[in-house]
Amino acid sequence: MDTFSNLIGGEWTEGPGITENINPSNTNDVIGRYAQGDAAQANAAIAAAKAAAPSWARTNVMVRHNILKAAAAEIFARAKELGDLLAREEGKTLAEGIGEAGRAGQIFDFFAGECLRLAGEKVPSIRPGVEIEITREPMGVVGMITPWNFPIAIPAWKIAPALCYGNTIVIKPAELVPGCAWALADILKRAGLPDGVLNLVMGKGSVVGEAILSSPDVDAVTFTGSVATGKHVAMKCAEHMRKVQLEMGGKNPLVILDDADLDIAVDCAVNGAFFSTGQRCTASSRLIVTEGIHDRFVEATIAKLQSLSVDDARKDGTHIGPVVDAKQLDTDMNYIEIGRGEDGARLAWGGERLNRATPGFYLQPALFTETSNDMRINREEIFGPVATVLRVKDYDEALAVANDTRFGLSSGICTTSLKYASHFKRNAEAGMVMVNLPTAGVDPHVPFGGRKGSSYGPREQGRYAAEFYTTVKTAYQLA
Ligand code: ADP
Repeated sequence: MDTFSNLIGGEWTEGPGITENINPSNTNDVIGRYAQGDAAQANAAIAAAKAAAPSWARTNVMVRHNILKAAAAEIFARAKELGDLLAREEGKTLAEGIGEAGRAGQIFDFFAGECLRLAGEKVPSIRPGVEIEITREPMGVVGMITPWNFPIAIPAWKIAPALCYGNTIVIKPAELVPGCAWALADILKRAGLPDGVLNLVMGKGSVVGEAILSSPDVDAVTFTGSVATGKHVAMKCAEHMRKVQLEMGGKNPLVILDDADLDIAVDCAVNGAFFSTGQRCTASSRLIVTEGIHDRFVEATIAKLQSLSVDDARKDGTHIGPVVDAKQLDTDMNYIEIGRGEDGARLAWGGERLNRATPGFYLQPALFTETSNDMRINREEIFGPVATVLRVKDYDEALAVANDTRFGLSSGICTTSLKYASHFKRNAEAGMVMVNLPTAGVDPHVPFGGRKGSSYGPREQGRYAAEFYTTVKTAYQLA
């Protein structure tokens, strides 16, 4: 069986421990043995990143461009193989895995181009004979802590802008999916990235993650994960007066109005709520439906769910793969019980554990109806294939319910009315708004992020990424 090491200062370095990477579609399938780093390795990686920082910050932008471009080319060329690894370690379907690998390629491609478009401003001073320049400089060493649900896209959308803007990196991927992050580190090393510019330390959040948060030599931290860990990351960064960027949960509403195209609405709901096994922070977990279309929508959604196959992520014809692991499956089942029990909602479809040819964490998508927005299943992020339907009187009530949440990542509406679509775009309290589209599924070249409890700090992706990965300098000179 293959063994995969940490990358520290350009050297592949065995960890003090090792973990097996298990396939959630078949728990007998061990993908590989991956190093488990400790605090000492994290600190060695941070030291290597710090040592490499001045030289990488001054590296010719064409060199940076060429490295990112070469990485993009290799990712595109190997998208099928990387997508297969992703589906095998995380459990989203092969098509979704290949799509996500392609997305990682697009992100490296975009930031390869951005390397050649770095610019500052020159502005007149109010003082005679004085010139002012405003430029962006790298932050220095960026610590990255990433989750399991997008094993290649999220590391890519943190690594690519960090390198483009001249930073060095220590990345700790989620314990459940070290494979894709390892593949990215390997690709970048072979693309010519100098030693120490990207360091990969796999291992536990409480050990490696904590070491990154505790080091005075980390200049900025970008985190994607749960709200509870995100809060902890923010507190630790405040202690060090360190720049931080957090992407956390969602409880994203999809509003369906009486005038919606029913087919579009059902497609948006099923895709947004259940594809990628519902394990997306942008998942449509609350379906807010006006009363004139409610019954038709519920019936058509259940009919669609009945036609979907839940099975091995890499099997032909699978629409929905397994839940990522036993712990997440327990969480999902627990919320299904809460929905049925203390919340008193009606489980209109699914919610059963399924057996397939191989031992895996298979769960039938669950749809609750007759729910109210104060129920726990409507207030807490579940992060699984579980969605609720909320019946509302009209658009005004739909908008109020959509905004009545502590989250604010993505918000969607299905309607044929220009008036309501425009009003919703202006008044949805979310970082991203979708009209006649699923709440999940975003473009790589525009900002990604949310409001309220979903995000903290500057946006990710596209040119807005510069807000986090650079610091602004204002220079005055007597000419
Ligand atoms: P999830 O429940 O989805 O795994 P987490 O927020 O626990 O979400 O995990 C997201 C990332 O944060 C993972 O890489 C995890 O290892 C890391 N992490 C967890 N706990 C800590 C911690 N105390 N300090 C730093 N990182 C952590």
